[in-house]
Amino acid sequence: MKVEKLIVTLAPTGNVPTKELNPNTPVTVDEIVEDIKKCKELGVSIAHIHVRDKDGNPTSDRSLFEKVLKKLDEDNVDIIKQVSTGARGGENTVDFRGQMLDLNAHMASLSTGSSNFPNSVNANSPELIKALAEKMYSNNIKPEIEAFDVGMISNAKKFLKKGILKEPLHFNLVMNVPGSIEGTPKNLMFMIDSLPEDSTFTVSGIGKSQVQMLTMAIIAGGHVRTGLEDILEIEKGVPASNMELVERVVNIAKAVGRPIATTAEAKEILGL
Ligand code: MG
Repeated sequence: MKVEKLIVTLAPTGNVPTKELNPNTPVTVDEIVEDIKKCKELGVSIAHIHVRDKDGNPTSDRSLFEKVLKKLDEDNVDIIKQVSTGARGGENTVDFRGQMLDLNAHMASLSTGSSNFPNSVNANSPELIKALAEKMYSNNIKPEIEAFDVGMISNAKKFLKKGILKEPLHFNLVMNVPGSIEGTPKNLMFMIDSLPEDSTFTVSGIGKSQVQMLTMAIIAGGHVRTGLEDILEIEKGVPASNMELVERVVNIAKAVGRPIATTAEAKEILGL
């Protein structure tokens, strides 16, 4: 069996981490770009980008996304740029959530269902999903389907049938988000088995499920995401840095004999 190279995604910031929760959280444009650069040197080929306003709160502000993307280009950082259209940045409309989709990103996250976060609803109506997907394709941006639960995979298949999503699909199986599918080996195998044939997938393991979920993904032929968006501590009571998290997963991949993809190889695997 041919071993496909491993795509490592960095999710440096997310919506939840703060400097108070972890002082290493990058929140300004410069801090975000700096972590992406350092992690690229360690093996990362995709940057999953969230931005924060001047008070450090999550936002979908197009001008902030533009600054991050521009700085990555200006600094010649050869990386796949993936913007987040996630639900915690403000209003639930395509105009707000998808305002950055006309920028020159390669990919964007797309949740294909709704769920509960600990203190809010992750609301993604069929109309919103359709509108975001249409805007992505019309700007040549490949969706990364964020599935927090198996029903979101079923929804993606329905959108595929209707022609709203286009093959080959790429998924991010986000395991262990509080309120969604728990990060257990059985659950991850079930999620993987539920994917449409010919799709590619990345696995994110939230909190303490991370090492187990990512190790399984590497062995099962999937790809991996890490970063402070997904896990704040490298071990109990010790704040992680993005670089430490990337190093850890790259070392696991080496130990099980999975080579790391370059950005060019990642683009080929994903059909970008
Ligand atoms: Mg995200």
